[in-house]
Amino acid sequence: MKVLVIGSGGREHAMAWKLRQESTLSLFCAPGNPGIGEIAPCLPLSSNDIGALAACAEQYGIDLTFVGPEAPLAAGLVDLFERRGLRAFGPTQAAARLESSKAFMKTLCRRYGIPTAPFAIFDDPARAIEDIRGRARPCVIKVDGLAAGKGVTVAATAEEAIAAVEAAMVARRFGDAGARVIVEEMLSGEEVSVFALCDGTAVCPLLAAQDHKRLGDLDRGPNTGGMGAYAITDQVLEPVVWAMAQEGRRYRGVLFAGLMLTADGPQVLEFNVRLGDPEAQVLLPLLESGLVEAAEAVLSGSLERWTPRWRPESAVGVVLAADGYPDSPRTGDPITGLPEAAAVEGVRVFHAGDNLNEARTRAYRAVDAVRYEGKIYRRDIGARAAGRGRIRPPADERSAAGPGREGDRKPIEARSGTNVSEERNQGSRSQRSVGHR
Ligand code: ATP
Repeated sequence: MKVLVIGSGGREHAMAWKLRQESTLSLFCAPGNPGIGEIAPCLPLSSNDIGALAACAEQYGIDLTFVGPEAPLAAGLVDLFERRGLRAFGPTQAAARLESSKAFMKTLCRRYGIPTAPFAIFDDPARAIEDIRGRARPCVIKVDGLAAGKGVTVAATAEEAIAAVEAAMVARRFGDAGARVIVEEMLSGEEVSVFALCDGTAVCPLLAAQDHKRLGDLDRGPNTGGMGAYAITDQVLEPVVWAMAQEGRRYRGVLFAGLMLTADGPQVLEFNVRLGDPEAQVLLPLLESGLVEAAEAVLSGSLERWTPRWRPESAVGVVLAADGYPDSPRTGDPITGLPEAAAVEGVRVFHAGDNLNEARTRAYRAVDAVRYEGKIYRRDIGARAAGRGRIRPPADERSAAGPGREGDRKPIEARSGTNVSEERNQGSRSQRSVGHR
């Protein structure tokens, strides 16, 4: 069997790694990255050039294609592949609207009673600003279209919210993606991401993951962590898949729900139509079942009869970002220490460990081994889950660089991940992740 993975990040590296474990399949990646290049041939095609990807899949006789990022899905990669008789795992363009338009997503939730923050949609900046001025409570401004995770402003004040509206709608900071904005109520609670497989009708929830979005953030919301996966499946995942089917947008593939667990129950913040990055990097190593097997169950509509098997272990991933990340990451600095990081016991690309504390200790030992100018990262990945009650690295980790970085501390979007693979800090691939399972 020939399998193609589309994308070039840590998520795609984790997918390629996982597929490599599975069977004797021939694996290709487009465009891939140097880490992926160590385990599969990388084809020099842009992940957005869906025509070239389809032609290439035909030429290579690819049996099954996995798509990492959202842009090719939103551009209709799956539709195009299907038209050409190729099998691709993921939602069609119509189903990918769930991620590519927040206005679509919010309206769908409202129409079908799926819990989400109250909101209003605006095409006119003056009306949006008027709405913001009339609000007594802080609000969140979201651009409608895809903005690479940067189109959301959680505004503490009306001025901040208005500035976000002006940046999106007047200055067009996100191009056409910001022509329409959503103004929604600010929610408080604990954030959780849930992944599920969907075959159009059945939903199979996978593990929940917690992404640490900000450096140094210690959430102090109400403790709603005990809220079960059942409530999320029952109130969010199954209703949305049903709603999409009703709308003629049958949803097949991975569905990622970003949720706030509030005192009133789970509320949808966003849906993504693919595996999240970095969450995929810690979830895939824990999945014992094969990825091909899972995709086959989805594509054949037999998900109801498929049950995932999980390894009873823990995974911790820490991303090492380049100085200036996420706005203008510094590129070109040599990175050293990757072999030493990979040599830490239990740490290599996705190695095994016994429990979360041990996984953290080893992941951070590997993190310290990787050296480059302007290295920034979080020291608290997995700390809360490990029950430490405070944000600190494991004891033998506090030595080298001080908390969080080698140099001055600066807020970043921190991400968890799991691979140690690339040798140079290049362009958009300016994050390196070190992980341990
Ligand atoms: P990403 O895909 O990077 O998570 P996104 O651009 O699709 O981001 P959202 O997930 O909708 O956007 O929002 C990003 C973050 O903003 C959320 O993870 C959450 O921390 C915060 N946020 C979004 N909506 C709200 C809300 N209504 N109340 C409080 N915080 C919110």
